[in-house]
Amino acid sequence: MRRVYLDNNATTPLAPEVFEAMKPYLLDDYGNASSIHWYGQRARNAVEKARQQVAKLVGARLSEVTFTSGGTESDNAAIFGIVQAARVAAPHVVTTAIEHHAVLHSAQALEKRGVSVTYVRVGAGGVVDPEEVKRAIRPETVLISVMHANNEIGTIQPLEEIGKIAREHDIYFHTDAVQAMGKIPVDVEKLGVDLLSLSAHKLNGPKGVGAMYIRKGTILKPLLYGGHHERDRRPGTENVPGIVGLGMAAELALAGLEENAQQVAALRDRLECGILEHVPRVSVNGDAKRRLPNTSNLCFDFVEGEGFVIAMDLKGIACSTGAACSSGAVEPSHVLSALGRTPDQARSSIRFSLGRYNTADDINFALATLPAVVERLRSVSPRWTAAIQGTENREQRTGNRE
Ligand code: PLP
Repeated sequence: MRRVYLDNNATTPLAPEVFEAMKPYLLDDYGNASSIHWYGQRARNAVEKARQQVAKLVGARLSEVTFTSGGTESDNAAIFGIVQAARVAAPHVVTTAIEHHAVLHSAQALEKRGVSVTYVRVGAGGVVDPEEVKRAIRPETVLISVMHANNEIGTIQPLEEIGKIAREHDIYFHTDAVQAMGKIPVDVEKLGVDLLSLSAHKLNGPKGVGAMYIRKGTILKPLLYGGHHERDRRPGTENVPGIVGLGMAAELALAGLEENAQQVAALRDRLECGILEHVPRVSVNGDAKRRLPNTSNLCFDFVEGEGFVIAMDLKGIACSTGAACSSGAVEPSHVLSALGRTPDQARSSIRFSLGRYNTADDINFALATLPAVVERLRSVSPRWTAAIQGTENREQRTGNRE
């Protein structure tokens, strides 16, 4: 059965080059990077090479890159680390309503500990207004955390402007760049960020490994306590194969950045235009211009998202819903709700996210499959039938009057 993977914002396939780079460190070069013998030195050299590769991808110094277990840990470490180190009696944090749960739930946990948090709203396009961020700042604000690109709708946030505001007010600025990395250029100097989170598995690297950029001089408390690894920033024996994989993924991403972005954007646009042309009552969620080249989030009126994903999966196509299943109930996505989408619209929204290995044939296959799936799901939807009848009746009434 033919299978097409259009869920690259969830995770990406491992690049063969990454796998080859990791292999020796899973087999022969198994040393602990902290050991002083030959085995340890081999591992240490590999970790430091990866640090160079990651530093180059984001424009950082070597000493500013700390390896972690992924995006979630990097986000938690940045947020808790800054707040816990802050010398302010009642610290305040500014973030946005559309952050990934790794940030949002960290902020909510801080609130339970008495920290106040402002969740800046977004407009219908899903883009944060820097002026709103500025207005949210208080004398006790110790951190601003705004994601670089949204994982559900792909919108890119105006980090440069927010970075300037943060600097003017002498407030630390963190960005969750997990989805931006490898898709658009990311430069910590240009963006003006003090902390940045990234994750290997979103850029054709392995799962369970990531990194943090921490600007020189930034004062933060570590999340974990243990040995003196990673300059006392993050204890624990280094995940050498994972770190090597992240390094190689970073190198590949940087080398092919522009070409991949163009290629993927052309495929994404072809998919999106094809759907909008051939399927009625479909709309794009979020700002269609200010977004990642690989992401398309579409609302299919009167189509139940979960049913759509299952039906597409049965045809061999993997995509995802704009909803999360929590405690047995399908909750509308907080991102789509923040955009002003109704719960029904959010539950009818589907995310297609492309990657470097998708081909024109994949898109042709998706376009050949999708309209019939939508039609079938709508044909069994009483709400769709009622809506169609309503439209027909309205047309008849209008026709009668004319
Ligand atoms: N931040 C964003 C924007 C993400 O999309 C994800 C993963 O979905 C994460 C953080 C978490 O990263 P990880 O899966 O490496 O913990």
